[in-house]
Amino acid sequence: MISEDDVGGVHVKYLYHCHRQLWLYLRGIRPEHLSATVQFGEAVHDTSYTRNSPVDLGAAQIDFVDGQRWVHEVKSATRPSEADAAQGRHYCHRLRRLGVDVQGAILHYPKTRRTQRHPYTDDAARQAETDIATVLAVAQAPASPDRLPRSRCRGCSYTDYCWTE
Ligand code: SF4
Repeated sequence: MISEDDVGGVHVKYLYHCHRQLWLYLRGIRPEHLSATVQFGEAVHDTSYTRNSPVDLGAAQIDFVDGQRWVHEVKSATRPSEADAAQGRHYCHRLRRLGVDVQGAILHYPKTRRTQRHPYTDDAARQAETDIATVLAVAQAPASPDRLPRSRCRGCSYTDYCWTE
């Protein structure tokens, strides 16, 4: 079973998108073919900000930390989301635990040339702890959570798994 230290950015992102997606992922269930959206996301990720090396935190991998101790994350979506903010917050939590006094997360959306800055406040730190606890609670659920309404499944790589009768 997953432990607190195993919780990574992908878990937190799925937590905010769909508990069922998180539950399936935690059980090692992987869609056979990644959706075109996911592949496109990886392509954007691969071709952006190539001058910086990712920072590997074990369960979490972030794009880079700048000299002012801001975590930078490059996103493939056009619009900011709660899931993206939660993921950035989680990386700040991890780095603080390692003794790096990060100021917060800056999310980059190269497709729309937007950036969003999320300072790592006391409230953000509390929410990061809550998110980890919620991931662990979803992991312990004996059965898969209900599906989202179909309209919210767009782009999810589990669409075929969930919706093929
Ligand atoms: S297809 Fe929909 S219900 Fe299934 S995991 Fe993805 S978002 Fe959740």
